[in-house]
Amino acid sequence: MSESDDCLFCKIIAGQIPSSKVYEDETTYAFNDINPKAKVHVLVVPKKHYANVAELAAGDPTELAHIVSIAQNIADKEFHGAYRLVFNTGLDAGQTVFHVHAHVMTGEKLDE
Ligand code: ADP
Repeated sequence: MSESDDCLFCKIIAGQIPSSKVYEDETTYAFNDINPKAKVHVLVVPKKHYANVAELAAGDPTELAHIVSIAQNIADKEFHGAYRLVFNTGLDAGQTVFHVHAHVMTGEKLDE
């Protein structure tokens, strides 16, 4: 069994678990967070499994840049290009799903 066989976000990407899709292309999938912390809270993930943002940056920096550009596009549409982009990395930083995901929070003025 590979690492990704038991991964919640791999299952969402594969359509085995339902999600509210916001955007999809060949390499990347974006969907609404089930427990939103902002008016618009989207998770943007590479289809290929990487555990965290450091692994993605080392393994596929182009994909990391692509995720940033998707975040920008969502925020351009939802809130004049203003957004918060968060990658929780490691258990002690609050990461609960070990498939790298960008939290894109936008759609309203955010607390400082
Ligand atoms: P945290 O749970 O502390 O935010 P992460 O940074 O690992 O940790 O984020 C995982 C995110 O995935 C959470 O914001 C959570 O609400 C979201 N999530 C969990 N299950 C689902 C799901 N089935 N569909 C959409 N979002 C989900």
